[in-house]
Amino acid sequence: MGTHTPRGQISLNKLLSGIVILSFLLIMVIAVTASYQSEQKLLHARTLEMNYSSASRMATTVDTLFSIMRTSLAVVADQIDDKSDAAEVQRQLEFLHNSRNYFNSIVWVDEQGFALSVAPTSLNAKGKRGVTEAVKQALASRQPELSAPYMSSSGRMIVLMSEPVFNGKGDYIGFIGGTIYLQEHNVLNDMFGDPNIDKTGTYYYVVDSGGKVVYHPDKTRIGKDVSTNEVVRLLMQGQSGQKLIDNTYDIPHLSGYATVSENKWGIVVQSPVSMVAEQQKRQVTEMIFYMITPFLLVMAITVFLARRLAAPFVNLANLVNKASAEAASLEIPDRKHWNREADQLARAVISSVNEMHKQNQQLAHTATIDPLTGLQNRRSMRSVMEHWMEEGESFGLVMIDVDRFKMINDNYGHQAGDEVLRFFAQMMQSCVQPENLCCRWGGEEFVILVPGRSPEECYPIAEQLRESLERTESPIGLAITISVGIAGFPHHSTEIGELFECADKALYEAKKDGRNRTVIYN
Ligand code: GH3
Ligand code: MG
Ligand code: MG
Repeated sequence: MGTHTPRGQISLNKLLSGIVILSFLLIMVIAVTASYQSEQKLLHARTLEMNYSSASRMATTVDTLFSIMRTSLAVVADQIDDKSDAAEVQRQLEFLHNSRNYFNSIVWVDEQGFALSVAPTSLNAKGKRGVTEAVKQALASRQPELSAPYMSSSGRMIVLMSEPVFNGKGDYIGFIGGTIYLQEHNVLNDMFGDPNIDKTGTYYYVVDSGGKVVYHPDKTRIGKDVSTNEVVRLLMQGQSGQKLIDNTYDIPHLSGYATVSENKWGIVVQSPVSMVAEQQKRQVTEMIFYMITPFLLVMAITVFLARRLAAPFVNLANLVNKASAEAASLEIPDRKHWNREADQLARAVISSVNEMHKQNQQLAHTATIDPLTGLQNRRSMRSVMEHWMEEGESFGLVMIDVDRFKMINDNYGHQAGDEVLRFFAQMMQSCVQPENLCCRWGGEEFVILVPGRSPEECYPIAEQLRESLERTESPIGLAITISVGIAGFPHHSTEIGELFECADKALYEAKKDGRNRTVIYN
């Protein structure tokens, strides 16, 4: 049974369900936020660590690679002197070029800068004079050199590794140079793969000791000076490590970086933070997906339990409502509720409601019943008469007075008088029909209300009672007599006061005519 809830009030069930659902949602939000945050830290730290270890590994690889490359140039350089045959050197250069993918081209340059031998021959550079800074620098220093990236005469972005050549007397006679074509297939992308961006957005790039890009997935950036970049600055200072930094375009990246000791290059492996966040969002979505079903299940169970717990209170409220509306007493439930307090409260409320109900009934009883005889008192008699009059129901009013009652009191005592009154009341009730209403009017005067009967029809009823009394011994050992006056509604009057006056007059007649008789008004 549902109860109507007034505006502005919330039912207990809704309140509990609301609290449960709200707390669950809050817990979910907090759990997701907390795990997102801790996951983010973890993921950043892991990405930095991974990028750093990749950069270090690549640095080691490049280190080894470049020392082998330099050695291979040095081996060729060592075998050359004044008398070396250009064709023989050409064969050696081609062998080195073809057998290993170290260099995109290899050249033997004399001390004037003229190319004596070039591999591959397809370059058609033989006999030409190198005029680039890198060539000039190599010739000037007469030392092993590794150039910065520069634009070659053939329009390629390259770096030049050179190894000086000396004749038998130790005079400088040129160098053996190996080039790497930075924007084409070369030893670097051969080693590390190309393109180098993986699905997490992680990529690497390589800068030389002067801060110029020698390798980058965006080929247009090769050869550019990026020495203002924070990581590149650290690399140029010879540092290795990991750091959250903004790249050249101010996009935050998780960078790992390491220097190559052989050529002082620096390698940067980095992942954009946004890509890491993307990955994290997927993880959180996945977490919510796995959480949602058990979460909803637990929430449903909790709501169910909360409602079960609230049930006795809701029931009780409904019961008490019903009890006060219908003025009925309540059944104490025979099943105990599993919650002790709920059970105790329900029982205590029900028994006090019932106690109140009982007291109300007693009060109503004492208000309508005469305590000495148990008959209806004057008050209830009046309300019955009013009710019948309203309904237009005819009735007879039979007014009775015990004869010479004062004498009974005087001779046998007041107590005996009371006994006689009770005895009379019993006689009265045993003589009338159940629908007739027996009342004590006051003292030793009584009234019988006879619904649906005319005064004449009431006469035999009164006579029957009078005659029975005549024949019956009362508690004082003698029979008592009564005098009776009868009036009728609506025959004699339609007004209560007048009706009583009529009955009273008839009763007076009966007394005057010698008592122990019945008189109908008029
Ligand atoms: P009559 O035949 O003229 O009616 O004479 P009566 O003596 O019956 O009339 P009266 O009115 O003189 O006396 C009524 C007496 O009833 C007076 C009073 O003491 C007595 N009485 C009234 N109420 C009670 C009661 O509750 N108990 C007892 N024992 N006596 C009562
Ligand atoms: Mg009297
Ligand atoms: Mg009397």
